[in-house]
This record gives sequence, C-alpha cells and structure tokens, in this order.
Amino acid sequence: MSSKRQIHVGPVPIGGGAPVAVQTMTKTETANIGPTMDQIRTVADAGADIVRVAVPREQDAEALKSIVAQSPIPIIADIHFNHTLALKAIEAGAHCVRLNPGNIGGPEKVAEVIALAKQRGTPLRVGVNSGSLPKHLRQLEYDNPVEALVTAAIETVALMERLDFENFKVSMKSTSVPNTIASNRMLAERIPYPLHLGVTEAGTKWSGSLKSAVGLGTLLADGIGDTIRISLSTFHAEEEVKVAWEILKALKLRERGPVLIACPTCGRLQFDMDTVVVEVERRLEAYEDPIEVSVLGCAVNGIGEARHADFGITGAKDMGMIYSKGEPLKKVPTEQLVNELFKEIDRYYAAGKTVQRDETAAAEARRWLAENEDDTQLTPERIAAMEAAAADEADAVLESMLEPAAPLDEEISPVAGRRFSRS
Ligand code: SF4
Repeated sequence: MSSKRQIHVGPVPIGGGAPVAVQTMTKTETANIGPTMDQIRTVADAGADIVRVAVPREQDAEALKSIVAQSPIPIIADIHFNHTLALKAIEAGAHCVRLNPGNIGGPEKVAEVIALAKQRGTPLRVGVNSGSLPKHLRQLEYDNPVEALVTAAIETVALMERLDFENFKVSMKSTSVPNTIASNRMLAERIPYPLHLGVTEAGTKWSGSLKSAVGLGTLLADGIGDTIRISLSTFHAEEEVKVAWEILKALKLRERGPVLIACPTCGRLQFDMDTVVVEVERRLEAYEDPIEVSVLGCAVNGIGEARHADFGITGAKDMGMIYSKGEPLKKVPTEQLVNELFKEIDRYYAAGKTVQRDETAAAEARRWLAENEDDTQLTPERIAAMEAAAADEADAVLESMLEPAAPLDEEISPVAGRRFSRS
C-alpha cells in the first residue's frame, strides 16, 4: 500500500500512488559549488529524481540559492542541530528540508521552521534515527528497538499535526535490515504520510547494495515506500542511483533503460562471457529504451529461455550468433559479437524499432545453431523447464483426483438441530 497522502518536492510527486522516487545525496562540500553541481548533474543523468545536499555551515546554506537555480532536479537541504540553517535553506528556495525535529533545539524552534515552511510551501522530511532516539525512549529501544523507532516517528508526526502541518514525509533510519523492515511495516499501517526508505550506513557498494536490496526490496514488494535512497560508502553518488533503479526495475515498479539478461555460465561455456557481459552492460548504458538484451554462454540449449529477448547473443569457441525474439539474425566471429550486436540494435532503432533481417545471413545462423544445439545435454535451463513441466503434470493429476464439488441444494440441506426452520 502506497501512502494515502501525497506531497511534492519541486515538481516530483511523492506518495499517494506516485512512482517510487529515486534519491541520492551529494558527497561534495556543498559550498564548493562547481564540484557539487557536477555531481548533481551526474546523478540526474543516472536517473536521480531528487538530490539531497548536506548543509552543516552558513556557507553551505548560502550556496543553496545558486545550486537550486542551476540544478536540473529538486534539492533537499539536509540539516542537523541548527534551526537557523533550516530557516536559511527554506529562504534560499530548497525544494524540501530534511531535519529531525528532536535535534534542532526544542519545540519553539521546530515551530519557527514549520511556520516558515508553511508560508513558503516547502515540504519537510522529518525523521528519526535509531542512533539518536529521544531520552524517554531509551529503555524501550533496549527492550524493543522496532517499537521505539515507530513510537519516535509517531511522536514526530503528532508534533507536526499539532502545528497544523501536513506537508511532510517521514523516514525511520536503522542500520539493521530486519528493524528497517519491521518498523516501516508497522508505521505504514499507522500513518497516512509518504515514507522515505533507506538502510542507513549500509556499507560498500557490494554489501550495501545487497542489504538495501533485501531491506528496501522487501518493503517495496509489499507496496510500502514512496521514495528510496541507497546509502553506499563511495564518492560516486551515481552508483547509489543505479542500485536504486535496479531494485525498482527488478520489482517492475519503474522502467528505465535496457534490461540485461545473462546466463550464470557453467562448464559448457566456450568463450569469455564475463568480459562480454561487462562490455554489453557498459554499452547499454547509452540507451534509454527498456529493450531486453540477453547473453547466453553456449548454444546447446538453442535460444531457450532467452526467446523473448529483443536482442541476444550466444557463443561457441570461434563463432557466435545474434538473434532477436527467438529468431537467428546472423553468425559472427566471437571477437565481433558485441560490436555486431550493437550494430543490429542501432539498425533496429534507425528503422523505427523494426528488426532488420537478411534472409541469407539468418539461414546461415540457423544452420550454425542447429549444429551447436545438443538436446541430450541436461543444462540448468533444461532442468528448470523439466521441473516446470513436472509441476504442471502434478497439478493436472491432483485436479483429476478431486471430486467435482456437488452443487449446493438448499432444499435438501439439513435443518435438524439448527435454530431456524424452513417451514
Ligand atoms: S548451459 Fe546454460 S548456463 Fe551453461 S553456458 Fe550454456 S546457457 Fe550458460
């Protein structure tokens, strides 16, 4: 269930059924405007809908005006401990301000920020962190960290509502994946406001991506979460954006760019597929259309499960084949596979998304495929297909064993011993 309420960060709708928005955060010193803008443009190109910048000092708040004016995507100012900076960020035109009401100096200062946010129509992201819960929740945090996080978030929401402010989204940050999942599930049932999801300090590109995919993916699959940020320990914020998109694409929540399918390889592999897959993935980054491209490590399966791919390659020792939608297009030397694949993709786009076939080349490729197919081999793909067929057969047997349900005849259904009578 997506949140009931919707807010807008600049032109980007958050919650209320809007597509899940991808966020990241710049890693530069915000006041260093040149490098900050370079990074903002890079993450926008990678697909970030919104970007957050740290505003720990006066000069960062001052830089905001110029950054907001130049940025191609909305800017969120990230403020801690200092309500004056929050006021300055709103005045500078930040599209949203992120703060934890518990750490900016008490209710009066929160009220001051809210008053200006209302006046300027600036939304806030209000949140709680597992590392900085209010003192009165410390014991609860020890006994039940999930309940403590949710309680802190609900107290923050109540404070916003007491101040008659509803233009906000909520985040609860924890380094623990199970606690992130449990707390957001609980909070989503209790409040109507949009939720920002993230696993805080997730780690390196490898471990952080996995933790985020498990934590955020689980919630998103349940329909919880309106905006996400993947926190990775890398200067390259665009990597966070790419991971966020892979999660959304895997769940079919949003589409962006091509989808690459590649077999896991096995002992039947006859060419250096690792290098080929990396090269194909790199070159596909230049395309925006969501075409599906498949790379198979051998031809013993034929085109098999990659039959639906818009384009694909499969290789053997010296030769490989390019195909489209299950039909061979041409046979080429292995070292030219990638270049020829992209030539075919470019011809397809140049012809208004029509696959270009040369019948002589296709016939030659079909012959090559027939020579290399080997239906005696028990490949991973064939085992999966056999398992699926066996499951279908078992279903059919079970169905045939079930007695068809007798139609219910109200006239002959028993009445003895019941509290009503038909007479
Ligand atoms: S049998 Fe399947 S997994 Fe093994 S190399 Fe061929 S396509 Fe890849």
